[in-house]
Amino acid sequence: MAAAKRVLVTGGAGFLGSQLCDRLIADGHDVLCLDNFFTGHKRNIAHLFGHDRFELMRHDVTMPLYVEVDEIYNLACPASPIQYQINPVQTTKTSVHGAINMLGLAKRTGAKVFQASTSEVYGDPEVHPQPESYWGQVNPIGPRACYDEGKRCAETLFFDYHRQNQVRIKVARIFNTYGPRMDPNDGRVVSNFIVQALTGKPITIYGDGKQTRSFCYSDDLIEGFIRLMDSPDGVTGPVNLGNPGEFTMIELAEKVIALTGSKSKIIHEPLPTDDPRQRRPVIDLAKSALGWEPKVDLETGLKRTIAYFDSLLAEG
Ligand code: NAD
Ligand code: UDP
Ligand code: UDP
Repeated sequence: MAAAKRVLVTGGAGFLGSQLCDRLIADGHDVLCLDNFFTGHKRNIAHLFGHDRFELMRHDVTMPLYVEVDEIYNLACPASPIQYQINPVQTTKTSVHGAINMLGLAKRTGAKVFQASTSEVYGDPEVHPQPESYWGQVNPIGPRACYDEGKRCAETLFFDYHRQNQVRIKVARIFNTYGPRMDPNDGRVVSNFIVQALTGKPITIYGDGKQTRSFCYSDDLIEGFIRLMDSPDGVTGPVNLGNPGEFTMIELAEKVIALTGSKSKIIHEPLPTDDPRQRRPVIDLAKSALGWEPKVDLETGLKRTIAYFDSLLAEG
């Protein structure tokens, strides 16, 4: 096992952050989990309370933070459109001021810093599938801009701190990821469909349901995070992390209905403004630079996620 490191995880009480904390603790590291609990929950990390290598700090990344660490994973930011549009100004601040503070911290301590960027930097893409070299098509003034442009500006800051201050950076562009510990109320498509199917409510497809997404299972993604952080300093990214399997929302709804045995009917609701029509990653760079590719197919991942929501709903 590699030497133990002191690792800061911002957004550590969220869906992906809490899974990353688990992985880092299992690998023998000291974990400082930072979260303001906007969309995160104590239940995601409660099993780590009392562990001698785990610490929790309630803190907002838009505020400066002085700690001594070896690595920083910057995940703090609401990820679901419904959540990030509640307070769009705060969403932009979280991405931009959060990036500045984490980069300032990395500059002072010499820590490596990882940024959870997103496929949303490609906007509603005119190039399909999307390689890292594509600059994207984002509406800068639409309702999704607080998230997309915040993340784009964070990438700019990462590369400028790297060029200007030699900060060691690792930028991952994450495509739609699902799995246990997604918030049942956060409005993302996989959690919505599963909860609707399990509770016998109508499955809400927005628009005609022919828009596509690529869904990556969370275990695969976390493996990609670790490989990127552990890669040589020359590997800065941005690197796409996602599952190239591409599905329409109709196909996803049908799979969820079949796997849950639900009697829920499909209904259609209006398509949100600026909803991207298609999205699929090119993962050649992740394959060549990190030796990474997803292993869990959609059906297997959905079964595990359905089991999680089943037990969460049973707890009430
Ligand atoms: P999540 O909402 O479950 O987790 C985000 C966490 O950040 C939450 O615990 C929340 O409370 C915390 N947070 C939000 N604002 C904060 C602030 N100002 N200060 C401190 N903590 C704050 O979402 P997730 O799916 O786990 O996403 C984690 C990261 O990955 C996000 O940065 C997101 O943009 C990125 N990402 C996720 C996906 C995906 O499909 N899940 C795709 C692309 C990018
Ligand atoms: N910062 C922080 N922790 C540190 C060092 C810096 O939170 O350990 C914050 C600091 O508040 C500053 C930001 O990171 O606003 C950017 O730091 P940098 O050193 O780049 O900028 P400067 O302090 O020169 O404005
Ligand atoms: N979507 C849907 N029904 C829902 C929630 C979302 O049809 O109940 C659609 C949404 O319009 C989008 C896709 O599913 O086309 C993925 O939405 P999500 O919010 O999960 O992620 P993002 O749009 O950020 O990729």
